[in-house]
Amino acid sequence: MYNVGIPINGDNFRRTKNKQLILDELKAFDCDRVFINFETILDGHMVLHNEEDYQRQIDCLKEACNFFKQHGYEVGAWFWGLQFDRQLPFTPMKMLNGRCVDGFACPSDTEFIKKFQQCLIDVANTGVDIILLNDDVRFGAWGGFGCLCENHIKMMCEELGEQIDETRLKELILSGGKNKYRDAFLKANRLALENYAIKMREAIDTVNPEVRLGFCVCMSSWDIDGDAFELSKLMAGKTKPILRLIGAPYWTAGQGEKSRLQNIVELERMEASWNPYPDIELIAEGDVHPRLNCAANYLECFDTALRASGAVDGILRICVDGVSNVGYENGYLKQYLKNKPIYSEIEKHFVGKEHTGIRI
Ligand SMILES: [Zn+2]
Repeated sequence: MYNVGIPINGDNFRRTKNKQLILDELKAFDCDRVFINFETILDGHMVLHNEEDYQRQIDCLKEACNFFKQHGYEVGAWFWGLQFDRQLPFTPMKMLNGRCVDGFACPSDTEFIKKFQQCLIDVANTGVDIILLNDDVRFGAWGGFGCLCENHIKMMCEELGEQIDETRLKELILSGGKNKYRDAFLKANRLALENYAIKMREAIDTVNPEVRLGFCVCMSSWDIDGDAFELSKLMAGKTKPILRLIGAPYWTAGQGEKSRLQNIVELERMEASWNPYPDIELIAEGDVHPRLNCAANYLECFDTALRASGAVDGILRICVDGVSNVGYENGYLKQYLKNKPIYSEIEKHFVGKEHTGIRI
């Protein structure tokens, strides 16, 4: 059964006096699973530096989790996995261009690991079924890629059995064809993320081994970061692994030829085709950020195509307004209701059939 997960902004949830409005909208969208996040005000991360704000988030998660569970929904929490408050003194990722990525911890930082372990323990204790880390769990992007922080240099030198400084390492990694220095760089990236996944799983297991932990992949997740599927297995522990793929309808908004919707659909299908494990739950990136720029039809086309393809098990469908009051802007709901008969036909004619080729 295709699973529809919908994010609800925790701060919006709290300020909405008539919570029936939220329930009505979720029901109208045929939601199966609610993901609580804090996207609008807090940029989607947990506030680790301020105990008062942090506790407010945890309390909000607990309150929202109880509420949605009482109304029959599976509940997840969805937030950043390496992005932290800029006030905290963790080791930032350092890209090969020499620039540090402020506010993003390198997963090799043991102090960050400890702090974030406690965060996941607190979140798991709120009663959520799933913790889904967002697509910052990676070494790629931000105008470069990494990491050449002091921890990573140490890991690479140990692997190579040589003492090499940052400047020389950078030259060796980026020059020529395949070489042992680049291999050591890739291995250090993979090991740092694997260790992070293991440590986060261990933390959650101390309070509830049934809580699922997964993450949202990015472009680098299958190359400079290691292997997304293996990482999702490590995060999952004894639970069913969950992975959100990358490729969203908002990419096509205003991009014209550069990012056609059908190519984004095919990107997600390609990622799904790489999955060697039948037990990993794959969900599509039904992201329309910012919704003012992304036509509701893009989300509808994306969702109908992927449902018909059978490539994914569900979607993270950003369709309930997380900024304005729920119900204020209802364009996404209108388009969904208009297309609802098509979803039923897709269910009837496509489910259980094998997909072959592309763009069909
Ligand atoms: Zn690093």
